[in-house]
Amino acid sequence: MNYRHTYHAGNIGDVLKHIVLIALIQSLKRKETPFCYLETHAGIGSYDLLADTTQKSREFENGIQKIFNTEHSPDLIQDYITCVKSLNQANTLRYYPGSPYFVKQLLRSEDRMILSELHPEDFQTLKKFFIREKQIAVHHQDGYQSLKAYLPPKERRGLVLIDPAYEKPNELMQLPKLLAEALKRWETGIFALWYPIKTQEQLKPFYCELTEYIHRPFLRVELCVHSDEIALELNGCGMIIMNPPWQLDEKLEEILPFLWNMLNINKQGYNKITSLNSNSEAV
Ligand code: SAM
Repeated sequence: MNYRHTYHAGNIGDVLKHIVLIALIQSLKRKETPFCYLETHAGIGSYDLLADTTQKSREFENGIQKIFNTEHSPDLIQDYITCVKSLNQANTLRYYPGSPYFVKQLLRSEDRMILSELHPEDFQTLKKFFIREKQIAVHHQDGYQSLKAYLPPKERRGLVLIDPAYEKPNELMQLPKLLAEALKRWETGIFALWYPIKTQEQLKPFYCELTEYIHRPFLRVELCVHSDEIALELNGCGMIIMNPPWQLDEKLEEILPFLWNMLNINKQGYNKITSLNSNSEAV
């Protein structure tokens, strides 16, 4: 396991993922009944942007740093910035929250969070980070196994975030089948999957497998800040959201063009939301 999220903390991938995550948790909170949040690849909970590792890549400069001090933005983006600010002092960006931190900020006393992290050191860091939190369980476990171990949760409502490191060859192509199996265990759960985008062309087989295996409605939300013509390490990123909550698409349609305007490099890339189901064309 070579992947360390500290190199990527606060990049555009994190920005899109964490904004969508907040929108999803806000939707779950529209009902009073408790929910369960499961995260398969949880990371360490918070990242010091001054750490040597983070400073080496400085990916946050093209992500959170570009919007941290924005004052006039849609509510959802303001909620996201407020959450990042809660980890920092005096409007100075030093720490960037991991996904479990964003969720923790929004959790009510009766809601539950289950986290899996496989890297031994990152697991210890995450466990310490939430040591006093009774409603949060942190497991040193393979995230894909946790889908089998904890679904469906007793609350019967909630969200699963799948945010892999994509270290294994072809890991992305295994996910449609894996998601279909998880949906069999919990048909009504909301599942959100993050994926990197190099080019649309490279993703076509993934889209095809999704429409073949998934027989529930889902959204594809994508934000790219570089041209699709050059396959960089990360031209942008996307999220697949299965069983999307009511009006989530409208909420995201409001913020995506705003985000693209703030984050694009030389007006390259695109932002797009597509609603799909098993009868849709894949691409
Ligand atoms: N979700 C986190 C966030 O947004 O703050 C970032 C997670 S990072 C993209 C992926 C994490 O998965 C890394 O911390 C890595 O150590 C961990 N990891 C890699 N393979 C794993 C596996 N099979 N099961 C669980 N965690 C794994």
